[in-house]
Amino acid sequence: MASVPKAMGGILIEKTGDSSVLQWKTDIPVPELADGQILVKNEWVGVNYIDTYFRAGLYKAPLPMITGAEAGGIVAAVHESVCGFKPGDRVGYLDPARGAYAQYKAVAASKAITLPEGVTTHTAAASLLQGLTALTLIREAHHVKPTDWILVTAAAGGVGSILCEMISSVGAKIIGTAGTPEKMEQARKNGANYVISSRDPPEKIVSEIMKITGGHGCDGIFDGVGKATFDIDIEVAARKATVCTYGNASGLVPPVDVMRLAGGKNLKLCRPTLFAYLAEPEEFEQYSTELIDMLKKGIVKLANTTDYKLEDAKSAHDDLEGRKSTGKLLLQVPQ
Ligand code: NDP
Repeated sequence: MASVPKAMGGILIEKTGDSSVLQWKTDIPVPELADGQILVKNEWVGVNYIDTYFRAGLYKAPLPMITGAEAGGIVAAVHESVCGFKPGDRVGYLDPARGAYAQYKAVAASKAITLPEGVTTHTAAASLLQGLTALTLIREAHHVKPTDWILVTAAAGGVGSILCEMISSVGAKIIGTAGTPEKMEQARKNGANYVISSRDPPEKIVSEIMKITGGHGCDGIFDGVGKATFDIDIEVAARKATVCTYGNASGLVPPVDVMRLAGGKNLKLCRPTLFAYLAEPEEFEQYSTELIDMLKKGIVKLANTTDYKLEDAKSAHDDLEGRKSTGKLLLQVPQ
């Protein structure tokens, strides 16, 4: 194992703003280990929409900051208080404390998993955050049943692709939305039974969904787009449905009049965050073990990934926010 340097490269955000604030620096101190932590030499970093919220200042964090919550890499050092990891182990991690857009990251051992043979560090960085989001959504936010009609927005996106794969393995019928003919085709490949253009006017989207479901509507709605689609969600929700608004790609959903949940439909509304489902180490272990099993069985395929250089994180953010991306975006870390 090579010795750990004092300084590292990484993307430092000194002020919040557009993607131009993502600056590559090579003189960032390598983090020192605290109790319970391991030092990971990152190989691949996963890009997630939440990284853009911190970069833009929608979600607040002290500056300067390194964004990024997930990566796959090699353990470079282990604090003496930690058991179960050793230098050289291949690991994936998911850490709400951010700091992943860099060559090294100190991570609580409870937020890392040792990768079994056949699961690469690329796969770990591509699947942990979005895969665990999809898995907890279909289990905890709305437990999907084979008889359900389910609406998945951005069905060719990162979370949306995995949602479609997991929901189709349950047997429920999926209506997906996507923004271009290519993305619509990708959504079908992901398992969506019906796909509607997300660029259509809201009234048209509503009427198509009601027609497809024979007037029933959707029993579960998984919407990561937020502000632009929330009204559609309420309209197309079936009686006793769960409307799960889990993201803000188009902006924050404005405050909601709870009487909109009555209206003869008795809707349930939730706004979950992944990290609150994984607050206990056992929860992280249980769901990540199940996700790895789904990767091994081919239920989650990660068929659509795009790699960028860590130094060029800006292009990844531009593509994600510009609705140009499909599937998962990853950053390759210089070794
Ligand atoms: P995606 O790959 O899904 O990218 C976002 C997609 O949203 C776009 O490609 C686009 O798809 C669609 N979209 C529709 N309208 C807009 C708009 N006005 N601006 C931008 N995008 C729009 O991203 P992720 O998979 O990384 O994340 C999806 C959502 O899930 C995000 O909102 C994210 O915050 C949320 N999330 C929430 C978590 C939680 O714990 N609650 C955890 C993980 C993610 P199209 O063009 O095809 O319509």
